[in-house]
Amino acid sequence: MEEIKTHSRIVVKKFGGTSVGSVERIEKVAERIYQDVQKGQRPILVASAMSGETNRLVSMAHQVDPRYRGEAYDMLLASGEQVSISLLAIALEKRGLKAAPLLAYQLGINTDSLHSQARILNINSEKLLGLVNNQMIPIVAGFQGVDSSNKITTLGRGGSDTTAVALAASIQADSCEIYTDVPAVFTADPRLIPKAKEIPTLNYDEMMEMASLGSKVLHFRCVELAAKYKIKIHLRSTFETREGTWILPEEKNMENPVVSAVTHEPLTAVIKLFPVPKGTKFIADLFSKLSENNVVIDIITQSYNEEGQRLAFSLPMSELEVAKDVLEKNYGGELGVSVLQDKAKISIIGVGMRNYSGVAYRFFKVLSDNGIDVELVTTSDIKVSAIVDKAHLQLAATSLHTEFGLDATN
Ligand code: ASP
Ligand code: MG
Repeated sequence: MEEIKTHSRIVVKKFGGTSVGSVERIEKVAERIYQDVQKGQRPILVASAMSGETNRLVSMAHQVDPRYRGEAYDMLLASGEQVSISLLAIALEKRGLKAAPLLAYQLGINTDSLHSQARILNINSEKLLGLVNNQMIPIVAGFQGVDSSNKITTLGRGGSDTTAVALAASIQADSCEIYTDVPAVFTADPRLIPKAKEIPTLNYDEMMEMASLGSKVLHFRCVELAAKYKIKIHLRSTFETREGTWILPEEKNMENPVVSAVTHEPLTAVIKLFPVPKGTKFIADLFSKLSENNVVIDIITQSYNEEGQRLAFSLPMSELEVAKDVLEKNYGGELGVSVLQDKAKISIIGVGMRNYSGVAYRFFKVLSDNGIDVELVTTSDIKVSAIVDKAHLQLAATSLHTEFGLDATN
C-alpha cells in the first residue's frame, strides 16, 4: 500500500444541492471527478441532498406536526444526503473508479446531541485516509452526524459546507473546494443589485460577517471552522472550470477596500417597548425568557430619559409570533409594545474599515440623500448594519454599493 506522506494531492470537494440536483448533473459531477483523478488528484467528496429535497422533507414533517423537533426530525432530514451520495457513487463506479459512499455513522462524524443544530466533536480521519490510500474515493454525506448514543443528528440547514471543512481540518488539508451554482461570492446579491461583481479573495472575518448578515453562500460555521484551522476555502462553480472566490487568512499589509460587500436580510421585524421598568433587571429577565423559547434577537438598543426607559430590538420575521407570545404571556398589559413588520437589514462589510474614518458618515449620508430612515443601527470594527423599511431595501443597497465603489464597470 502506497503511504501518503503529504496530503497535498488530497482535495476535499463539496457539491451543493443544485450541483447534484438531477441524475444528469450527478453524471456531470462524476465526469469532472474522473478528469481530476486522471490528473493525479485524490478527492474526498461531500454532497448535499438533491436541491429541493431537504425542503420537501421539512414540509412533510410540518404537515404531520409543525412543532415536532425531536430525534426523528433529524433522521428524516438526513435522508436526503443518502440518496445523492449513493447516486454519485454509482456514477463514479460506472467510470471505473472505486467509490465509498459513507453516512456519518459509518465514517464516524461524531457530534453533540443538540438536534437540528449539532456540532461536530471529532471525525475518524484514519478511516478516511485509509480509504484514500486504498485508491478509493470516499463520498461523505454532508449535513449529518451521529451522537454518543448512536442517534442521527444534523448540523443546521446548509450544514454540508461545515461537513466539508471539518473533513479537511481533520486530515490537515490546507484547502477545501466548495462547488456551487454561482461562480463566486459577489459584492452583493446580484438579484438585488445587478451591478454586483465577483470577489476574487475575501478573508475569514469578512466572510463570517457576510454569512451572519444574510449572505446565503456559505454556512456560518463552515467559515468559523476554516478560520480556526486555517483551511483555505475555494468557492467555485460546478459548471465552469475557472476559479471563483478564495477565502483566506487576512494578510496584514494587504491593501483592502474599505467596503468589500453589501449584504441584506429581507425578513426582519422590530419590537419596540416603552415604557419598560427602569434598570437592567427587566431587560435581563425579558431576554432570558426569549432565549428559553429559542427566539434569536439581533440588534438591541436601549435608552433612558426622564420619560422612562425604552427598549427596541430586531429579530427574524420567523421568530415574531413566538416573541409576541412570550411578551403577552409574561408581561401582559404591563408594557407598551409596538411591532414593526416588513423591515430589512442592510449591512456594509470590510476589514478595510479598520483603517479608514468616515465610513459611518458616508453610510448615513447615502441613506439621508435618498430619504431613507433607519430604525436601529449597530456597528463593529468591520461592519455597519441598519434596519430600514423593506420598501427601501433596493434603493439603500444599490446606493451604498455605488458609494463604496463596488459597481461592476461593464
Ligand atoms: N441538505 C441540507 C440543507 O438543505 C444541507 C445542505 O444542503 O448543506 O440544508
Ligand atoms: Mg448551501
